[in-house]
Amino acid sequence: MGTEQVDQIRRAALGAIESVGDAQELDAVRVEYLGRKGRVKALLATLGHLPEAERPARGEAINALKAELAAALSARHVVLSGAERKRAEARAAVDVTLPGRGEVAGAEHPLKTTLKRIERLFVGAGFEVAEGPEIEDEYYNFEALNIPPDHPARAMHDTFYLADGRLLRTHTSPVQIRHIKKIGGPPVWMISPGRVYRRDSDLTHTPMFHQIEGLVIDEGIHMGHLKWVLGEFIKAFFECELDLRFRPSYFPFTEPSAELDVACVRCDGAGCRVCSGSGWLEVLGCGMVHPRVLAGVGIDPERYTGFAFGMGVERLAMLRYRVEDLRRFFENDVRFLAQFA
Ligand SMILES: [Zn+2]
Repeated sequence: MGTEQVDQIRRAALGAIESVGDAQELDAVRVEYLGRKGRVKALLATLGHLPEAERPARGEAINALKAELAAALSARHVVLSGAERKRAEARAAVDVTLPGRGEVAGAEHPLKTTLKRIERLFVGAGFEVAEGPEIEDEYYNFEALNIPPDHPARAMHDTFYLADGRLLRTHTSPVQIRHIKKIGGPPVWMISPGRVYRRDSDLTHTPMFHQIEGLVIDEGIHMGHLKWVLGEFIKAFFECELDLRFRPSYFPFTEPSAELDVACVRCDGAGCRVCSGSGWLEVLGCGMVHPRVLAGVGIDPERYTGFAFGMGVERLAMLRYRVEDLRRFFENDVRFLAQFA
């Protein structure tokens, strides 16, 4: 056995160290050459077979090989771990030069926007906002509003009844009664916005819709106040001057009663599809509070008078945003809703 064996192991080990691709392979090479049962250890074991004079030189050569391989392993380790770190960094890298994706923000539903807008206009004029339950009983929904059990107006309301005899309110008018009882009596300046329910569904009706009810009760209130308040509201809501028309109508809880029409916002009175050729659009119902309703909540109708009005929020939103099918508001089609963002 000669020095060429040491050289051979050196070449093989250095070649293997150079060719490994990662730290795990490198460790396998270390074990093969420098491990407890490795090839360098085996080489040392052969020293005993040499003539005594040759042993020191051979021992020195093997130790030099051992040191050389350890240094090579360590150098290679540094290179490999640097490369691995770079690969990991590349995987986790964020390219700060890419354009941002941006947040997709939601928006308020157009009905909510309309509701808040109407509320804001009335609150600005001194009205108070009152709310009431959506599950009502017959007293608040009908009787207190001068609609006794056999009254034909009950049939018009297409009421949803619950098993216990209560019902889903068909209008926000019951809140009037609750509010008067709560504050004790006039002066009353209130609006009550909210959801109402009727068994009805077509192009212009949905089983659930939103109403805003308004009520004013004080001494000396007359029809002129009603006309002025609603006229100012319409002007502010549509942000333009529109011709108004009060048509006699009938509601059990007001006397006299009227429907308020505005000149068609689409054709300005000329007649079109939206107004069915009439040039007018119905926007709300109103009237002077029926003396029987006042007396029913303990208000002297000889001393106090009042007016009330009720409007459909969907109807007003349709006119303001020129939407022709009411059901669009409830279909949750993002393409439709995004237009109002
Ligand atoms: Zn029209």
